[in-house]
Amino acid sequence: MSVTVVKFGGTSMADAKSINQVAEIVRQDKKRRYVVVSAPGKRFSQDHKITDMLYACYHDLQINGECKATFEKIRERFKGIVEDLALDLDIDAYLDQVESDMLKYHSAEFCASRGEYLSAIITAAKLGYTFVDAKEIMVFNENGDFEPEITNEKVKSVLSKIDKAVIPGFYGGDETGLVHTFSRGGSDVSGAVIARAVGAALYENWTDVNGFMTADPRIVSNPKPIEKLSYRELRELAYMGANVLHPESIFPVRVGNIPINIRNTFCPEAKGTMIVPELEEKDMANRVITGIAGKKGYSIVYIEKSMMNSELGFVRKVLAVLEYYNISFEHLPTGIDTMSIVIADSELAGKEDVVIERIKKVVNPDHIEIKSNISLIATVGHGMSYKPGTASVLCGALAKENINIRMIDQGSSEMNIIVGISTSDYEKAINAIYNAFQK
Ligand code: ASP
Repeated sequence: MSVTVVKFGGTSMADAKSINQVAEIVRQDKKRRYVVVSAPGKRFSQDHKITDMLYACYHDLQINGECKATFEKIRERFKGIVEDLALDLDIDAYLDQVESDMLKYHSAEFCASRGEYLSAIITAAKLGYTFVDAKEIMVFNENGDFEPEITNEKVKSVLSKIDKAVIPGFYGGDETGLVHTFSRGGSDVSGAVIARAVGAALYENWTDVNGFMTADPRIVSNPKPIEKLSYRELRELAYMGANVLHPESIFPVRVGNIPINIRNTFCPEAKGTMIVPELEEKDMANRVITGIAGKKGYSIVYIEKSMMNSELGFVRKVLAVLEYYNISFEHLPTGIDTMSIVIADSELAGKEDVVIERIKKVVNPDHIEIKSNISLIATVGHGMSYKPGTASVLCGALAKENINIRMIDQGSSEMNIIVGISTSDYEKAINAIYNAFQK
């Protein structure tokens, strides 16, 4: 029988009611043998995520050498869950151990990881599955870098002997026994790593939305859900801010060609979004674009110089300046005598003047300026490489709304057109593009 790895996010683990729902989902399908869980998330909008509270504990520890008051709130939260689930589990003993270990290890990563740890212990008790500590199977090196191949072997050998297991997401351990975490939202990555190792036929990622939407529902009202998208489309959309799934989750499943199904714990009847290695012709037949995503907070370093194109090493010299100041850039559209470098404000902040001065010195441009308050919008879809006129529909839609395109870049993959526009036009632009591609 094929195996499905299921991962449940923070809202699915937030309280006893949602954990009961998780258990029901797992039990509905015998293939759901390996369960990866996040720490309890928010129950309502003003609530706190357990992971945030654990980081706060670490902060307290650093400042006061103890974190009693903050930990007390975490204790209450977990005790409440166990009580409401009516589990025969000595959660106090686990909490006492966690509290003293936090003092002992005194590390942000260790503190942060305890939400997933406790969440998995509770879920394992609820389901009657074996608890497997991620510290023993998800391998990091001592610098805190994840070791995918060693982990793959380890997970394979451990889980091949365990029929049904619950594994905490988000963290792992190094050879010396220290805990390391992925970046925030990293339980998605843990699930993907485990799916690869056990050779799963499917990786189900259960969250609190019905999958990916064609556009951000906070900007476009009632956007259509995306039924199917490819790994590459997902990478593009996720990178540009569609944050249903951790963007790095794709790498482990890609090795095994495992599809990911985004599902909604609170609406299990919805099919969600299927993320597949490659789309088939018929998947693209009725659509030109798959989705739109965007991000605010960019600047463009715009450079003009006559005959730039024939000046050997021009681009390299400019990019060397960025490298020197440790600035990474996002896009680099060039014209005959112009080039634009799109850079996130967080990278450029405070370095604008030195960068301009240095570029002036090394390439002596005719004109250089920084255009700020730029937002990027990516319009993504394999379908567009088959249909002429996509860029014209997109540009036409923006022109109709009187939105000036400050930068445009069609990715070499031909499945992505990125425009840079003024941030004040951001919402209007996304709506204009969305509407232009609706049939
Ligand atoms: N609990 C962690 C976070 O809040 C990891 C996760 O939920 O995926 O980032």
